[in-house]
Amino acid sequence: MTSNTMAEPVPDIAAGRLPAEAYQANFEVSVKEPLDPKRALVESSRCYFCYDAPCIEACPTGIDIPNFIRKIQTGNIKGSAVTILEQNIFGAACARVCPTEVLCERACVRNLAEDKPVTIGLLQRYATDWLFDRQVQPFTRAARTGKRVAVVGGGPAGLACAHRLAMLGHDVAVFEARPKLGGLNEYGIAAYKVPQDIAQREVDFILSIGGIEPHAGVMLGRDVSLAQLRRDFDAVFLGIGLAGVNALQAEGEQLSGVIDAVAYIAELRQAKEKSRLPVGRRVVVIGGGNTAIDIAVQTKRLGAEDVTIVYRRGPDQMGATHHEQEFAQVNGVKIKHWARPVRAVGMNGHVAEVEFEYTALDASGRLIGTNSGFTLAADQLFKAIGQTFIADPVVGDAAQPLELRNGRILVNEARATSLPGVYAGGDCVAGVDLTVAAVEDGKIAAHAIDQYLRGLQAGA
Ligand SMILES: Cc1cc2nc3c(=O)[nH]c(=O)nc-3n(C[C@H](O)[C@H](O)[C@H](O)COP(=O)(O)OP(=O)(O)OC[C@H]3O[C@@H](n4cnc5c(N)ncnc54)[C@H](O)[C@@H]3O)c2cc1C
Ligand code: SF4
Repeated sequence: MTSNTMAEPVPDIAAGRLPAEAYQANFEVSVKEPLDPKRALVESSRCYFCYDAPCIEACPTGIDIPNFIRKIQTGNIKGSAVTILEQNIFGAACARVCPTEVLCERACVRNLAEDKPVTIGLLQRYATDWLFDRQVQPFTRAARTGKRVAVVGGGPAGLACAHRLAMLGHDVAVFEARPKLGGLNEYGIAAYKVPQDIAQREVDFILSIGGIEPHAGVMLGRDVSLAQLRRDFDAVFLGIGLAGVNALQAEGEQLSGVIDAVAYIAELRQAKEKSRLPVGRRVVVIGGGNTAIDIAVQTKRLGAEDVTIVYRRGPDQMGATHHEQEFAQVNGVKIKHWARPVRAVGMNGHVAEVEFEYTALDASGRLIGTNSGFTLAADQLFKAIGQTFIADPVVGDAAQPLELRNGRILVNEARATSLPGVYAGGDCVAGVDLTVAAVEDGKIAAHAIDQYLRGLQAGA
């Protein structure tokens, strides 16, 4: 029996839990091995080049997948990359971060019990990396139109919109609150998915088309207003993502050691030396999406001894795919389903343990508590229960407010908002919160803005 006088220090949070070389392996190496030319050739030969290919339909950006795979097979790697990037300028990031197992690869006709899908993501990465390694910018700008567009937010939605507008001949100014462009590709997505400088390399590639002026460190609502941008530019695109975090709705949320997972991940992504980042010995994560998986795996890879994700429903209801859940478990993360936090219990103002209640569904399918539960010891408790849209920067002008719906910016199919000349896309509008969906929004909005600006020109 352990004596109380021998109790462990609370909280047990420390940096450098692992040998120095482990950090390199855990964060600087992509989790998926890239294809070499020989394997790319073999893999591309597995494609049936289907007519009406279901994989194209399943790709939110509509990449002509059989076409780019055929080009790999015939040795036209540059052509292959161009086919990808024409539809999705973030094709290199998406090749790494897309949940292909529920998108294109799930739809692949070879995805059968006795076979396996063509590894579309790896082939896409092979082609786009080839182009990036050679620093080729295959796109050129159309003749300048003299129109100027303000893009707010330098994430996938904003930059996809900016690149397409630049291609169409418009001049673009990108206003980004953070010091670097890239959005969650730079500050959010797990380091082992987009290691090293991949996110910045992609930003540089996008800007290299010309006609895009980046303004980092400029925040809408603080340094510039929507009314100002509407006055100074011919059109505005808002791609400002989700800046807020949902509340835990459990007692003890104010304790130190109860941390917003997204903020910690941003710090981790920017940390030059991961060994200097303090991490708890016992980590508890609340949530069921990508963020929950990413914070759990990354704290484990920082050296946390015991990491548990607790989710209030079952594995099928988790936002994270089964593939991601399995990945977390392979990395030594435990996942407990059907439980919700009731209280974080503190010791000297710092979280020490978390009390949970088991959950179940009642006859009408409603989630209910069961009055029985368990307690987990925790040095850190991460909230990964979803982000929220903060409307303050865009509500601005009371005479002409921007309309919201369900807490996000309301847009039509062309991604036009309720204000003339103002468009929006990505996480700040309703839809699927994935990089690839944000890129598609940016692309659709750019074409709609182009039409709008040409209409203005014709009417001028
Ligand atoms: C932890 C985490 C992991 C994820 N993992 C994956 C994954 O593996 N695969 C996947 O497909 N998706 C993943 N996602 C979702 C994906 O990152 C987003 O859907 C995508 O980044 C949305 O792009 P966006 O451009 O709309 O927003 P963001 O990427 O959030 O970019 C918005 C940009 O706007 C800036 N901004 C905000 N407010 C202002 C302002 N007032 N003024 C100026 N600039 C402002 C922000 O700083 C930011 O740079 C993940 C998300 C998180 C949080
Ligand atoms: S569904 Fe599969 S086999 Fe058919 S074109 Fe797409 S990747 Fe190739």
